Amino acid sequence: MARCYNFSAGPAVLPVDALKDAQAQLLDYEGTGMSIMESSHRGKAYSEVHEEAILNIRELMEIPEEYSVLFVQGGASMQFAMIPMNFMGEGQTADYINSGAWAKKAIKEGKNLGNVNIAADCGSDIPTRMPVADELSLTEGAAYLHCTSNETISGAQMKVFPATDAPLICDMSSDILSRKVDVSKFGMIYAGAQKNLGPAGVGIVILRKDLAERCPENVPTILKYSTHIDGNSMFNTCPCFTIYMIMLVTRWIKKEGRDNIFSQNVEKAGRLYAAIDGSDFYRGTALPEFRSDMNVTFRLPTEELEALLIKEADAAGLKGLKGHRSVGGLRASIYNAFPPEGVDALVAFMKDFEARNG
Ligand SMILES: *Cc1c(COP(=O)(O)O)cnc(C)c1O
Repeated sequence: MARCYNFSAGPAVLPVDALKDAQAQLLDYEGTGMSIMESSHRGKAYSEVHEEAILNIRELMEIPEEYSVLFVQGGASMQFAMIPMNFMGEGQTADYINSGAWAKKAIKEGKNLGNVNIAADCGSDIPTRMPVADELSLTEGAAYLHCTSNETISGAQMKVFPATDAPLICDMSSDILSRKVDVSKFGMIYAGAQKNLGPAGVGIVILRKDLAERCPENVPTILKYSTHIDGNSMFNTCPCFTIYMIMLVTRWIKKEGRDNIFSQNVEKAGRLYAAIDGSDFYRGTALPEFRSDMNVTFRLPTEELEALLIKEADAAGLKGLKGHRSVGGLRASIYNAFPPEGVDALVAFMKDFEARNG
């Protein structure tokens, strides 16, 4: 068996240890005689998995008492809609930062449900970037300020989070648990699981509990955060296997050492950007001060060369380097579980490709 180097943006590479644990437990989870997939979500075996997943996230992100950790189906996209439904009061305005493709999707849902003020707009800038503090025009008494910490498609990452009096809500889908973040600065953090935390199937929501009380009565029960808080994310049958995998992935982060993973992320990205900067053949697409440590986006002199590199890299076991279809180019997604040797392999491949085609 040969595992490739998987640079896919999401679903993405998972830690081999977590996959092996799942494999070993697939037919008989800890002597229950069944897979965790086949267990009752209210039974003892699954309940322990559920609680450990929540506890691991709490511990790894140092989440204060007054926040809930929730698993909500529908991924991050469901949160785009639930946020305005739950938090935008009658006649209120919500501030949104437009930093790119994902922010735009959140904004669209906000506009469907209420007044939206675009507090800053660099969503179409090239090179791609994030807004800086003095660009922000915030609404007094805003329901919240929404931002996107890492634009997965453009490869731009927020290095400093905006200051606001309103609750700060952040889509951290592609960089959650990849670096140190002070959770107490946020009203809510959310992420689709399938980039840094596990397989697809659930959105992780970290919510300051008092905010859930703002939800209008007439919002459907399953779409209210308070429902998921009250039900400990088991209002309905939760995606048990996805949450089990998140438990294994977070257990792996603890075993490796959270801070080791965080510093390794900076090193991995640094090595790749150094290779890009050290050549006239490759060109980064994000402004250097906003370059993402998770999604490294770059271009070659021509689209033909880009296609050739992607094809040859794929044949060499370096898979998933094609940029998002909306922007083209190349993208190397190097999340927590992506091994450092894979970055070295890509750098060596890029040098060789340039020598042959540059
Ligand atoms: C992938 C992604 C999403 C969408 O996640 P889904 O779980 O597919 O809904 C939203 N925001 C960002 C920043 C992403 O990278």
